[in-house]
Amino acid sequence: MNTGKFDAIVIGAGPSGNAAAYTMAKEGLKVLQLERGEYPGSKNVQGAILYANALEQIIPDFRDDAPLERHIIEQRMWMLDDTSYVGMSYRSDDFNEEKPNRYTIIRAPFDRWFSSKVREAGATLLCETTVTELIRTESGRVIGVRTDRDGGVVLADVVVLAEGVNGLVAQRSGLRPELKPDTVALAVKEMHFLPRETIESRFNLRGSEGVVIEAMGTVTGGMSGTAFLYTNQESLSVGIGCLVSDFKTGNAAPYELLERFKTHSSIAPLLQGAEVKEYSAHLIPEGGYRAIPQLYGDGWLIVGDAGQFVNAVHREGSNMAMTTGRVAGELIVQLCRTRSDFSADALGAYQDRLHKTFVMKDLKKYKDIPNFLHGTKHLFGTYPRMMSQAMQTWLRVDGADKREKERQIVGMVRSSRKLTGLLGDAFRLARAWR
Ligand SMILES: Cc1cc2nc3c(=O)[nH]c(=O)nc-3n(C[C@H](O)[C@H](O)[C@H](O)COP(=O)(O)OP(=O)(O)OC[C@H]3O[C@@H](n4cnc5c(N)ncnc54)[C@H](O)[C@@H]3O)c2cc1C
Repeated sequence: MNTGKFDAIVIGAGPSGNAAAYTMAKEGLKVLQLERGEYPGSKNVQGAILYANALEQIIPDFRDDAPLERHIIEQRMWMLDDTSYVGMSYRSDDFNEEKPNRYTIIRAPFDRWFSSKVREAGATLLCETTVTELIRTESGRVIGVRTDRDGGVVLADVVVLAEGVNGLVAQRSGLRPELKPDTVALAVKEMHFLPRETIESRFNLRGSEGVVIEAMGTVTGGMSGTAFLYTNQESLSVGIGCLVSDFKTGNAAPYELLERFKTHSSIAPLLQGAEVKEYSAHLIPEGGYRAIPQLYGDGWLIVGDAGQFVNAVHREGSNMAMTTGRVAGELIVQLCRTRSDFSADALGAYQDRLHKTFVMKDLKKYKDIPNFLHGTKHLFGTYPRMMSQAMQTWLRVDGADKREKERQIVGMVRSSRKLTGLLGDAFRLARAWR
């Protein structure tokens, strides 16, 4: 293993690590990127929606050759009960623009593509190389990493930890606390393959247009979680996730929930005839702003999922990963060119810069939402059932006059604790959302 000293070492070749490594290598820094997987993307799981804006700021012409599946023109949001859903959708031809705003992607080819750009920019990538620990001076300053390769010590001015949600290197080194079961979700996902024409007719799509469905409700059996179904060119990504703390106390395993979602009467027809080829599971950090650990210190920075940068309300993670990676990379480039100072003092500018981006602004805005969602189990039982009953009462034409229908719906909401509970939750949500 080459033990020459690098300007920067990046641990991980997911979106955050690739963004950081690309930003630094493109500006001429000597960058080493270490990835434990057989190739970039081999270990990674995502829904996956790619938000173009974050990548555009790193590789403006990414649309020329990135492996994109479909550009999203329609978003459906469904509240499921056992036999129905109450939904809202937004579909617009405006999303058929020259430079679409959101795409579905498949992570393995996407990460490989991104990594090829990182290498073209001049970074050195070593796969099948796991970083086992950080090398530190007596004063605690990080000066390199130890890997699982023979003689695998490598030195650098700064180490960027882009190792994803588990963050074991940071955790072992005491830079980050252990993950808490109530701030992390476990998601399972399957790929269902169908002919392109079937997907297009089933979802009312033309060419590379795409639809995404986000769902929640009784399908998670009272546990805090959401499900999704995304259209790719010749496959559908289908998944569901819940808080790890809920799985610990809940009565259903992840694959049981996925089965329940797939066999729901509103989902099953969309999957009919598909061949299932891949099954994966992954954690998602969902603690939000309050769970963000210390992000910098002498000789190190944390980016992406390792720093808990996920907006669970809007299901954004990869864009936060790329943005934090880019911002970290830009700061390191600047410090290399000016002060050659990688102390905590100098690297602290990373956090200040993040506060000026949507990443910190959004996470801060929603800082109380994770607690609200995780503490309001009625969202995953009482409310979806109530909404479905109300809709059904309203839509059924059965001889009852409309005033009577209104009375029935109000009575339904008033019954048991639903009204006071609903008002209390609405009040708490409004406070959390401010
Ligand atoms: C089911 C699911 C659906 C999602 N859907 C979306 C979505 O639709 N849109 C969206 O924006 N986000 C989504 N996310 C979140 C998104 O996937 C993450 O936010 C994003 O992948 C974070 O990127 P990252 O580079 O920080 O971490 P990762 O993508 O996890 O990459 C970390 C990399 O580090 C490597 N690594 C770890 N430890 C070591 C080590 N010790 N040595 C060397 N290498 C190491 C790993 O192998 C991996 O390649 C979803 C996540 C899941 C699980």
